[in-house]
Amino acid sequence: MPEEFDRKAYKRAMSEAINHIEERIHEACEVSGRARSEVKLIAVSKTVDLAQVEVAYELGLRYLGENRPQELVRKYEGLIGNYPDLHFHMIGNLQSNKINSLLGKAELIHSVSFLKPAKQINTRAAREDLVQDVLLEVNISGEKSKEGMSSSELKESFEELLSLDNLHIIGLMTMAPQGDLGVAEKCFEDLRMLRDSLEDAYPSCELSELSMGMSEDFSQAIRQGATIIRLGRSIFDPQFRV
Ligand SMILES: *Cc1c(COP(=O)(O)O)cnc(C)c1O
Repeated sequence: MPEEFDRKAYKRAMSEAINHIEERIHEACEVSGRARSEVKLIAVSKTVDLAQVEVAYELGLRYLGENRPQELVRKYEGLIGNYPDLHFHMIGNLQSNKINSLLGKAELIHSVSFLKPAKQINTRAAREDLVQDVLLEVNISGEKSKEGMSSSELKESFEELLSLDNLHIIGLMTMAPQGDLGVAEKCFEDLRMLRDSLEDAYPSCELSELSMGMSEDFSQAIRQGATIIRLGRSIFDPQFRV
């Protein structure tokens, strides 16, 4: 995105995009008998700068998703002073030396994909006397290129994950393969069923959040129970049409 941009035109295009997205969210909620209020929209701002985020804020968006810790911290520091009701979500790969910088800034970390980073977050959160809300990232499709634990790895380490006192596991996250919406929907269904089976096995544990669905497949995700959808291009890229 160039430094200088036609703010007015950009805002008009984004406003139209958000209206269109909202229509699609409402439709998907309606066909699955859900309320719009059950689905949180995260604007994934990883490809844009502060100015574009400000436009999104003016149009009512309050949740930002970033996939790099340094960039989340940079946007947090650049924006939180003027926009204290912005919420920052970490959705990408966690490098262990960057976890400290996220604590207290990332409201929710979606991308806890192994026991090791989970333990690191727990240790550091304990040191700062806080409890970090997290989602466990599951590689439900089994694609090699995807982050996340397999369902069986998750089941094996779940008890140990639950024992980490400064980690509050509130749900699961996944990314579906792109290109085939039927396959994507099946992945979302599988994630929901995995969540249900974990809740059955651990009745004291509430995994109420399912973070699934991106620009191309959020309707399918909502139909399968997504409570958080993560949209990047469909919000911030004026060329992108869902
Ligand atoms: C980039 C990204 C998104 C948004 O993807 P779009 O297809 O642009 O909506 C969602 N989730 C994660 C984890 C991402 O890295």
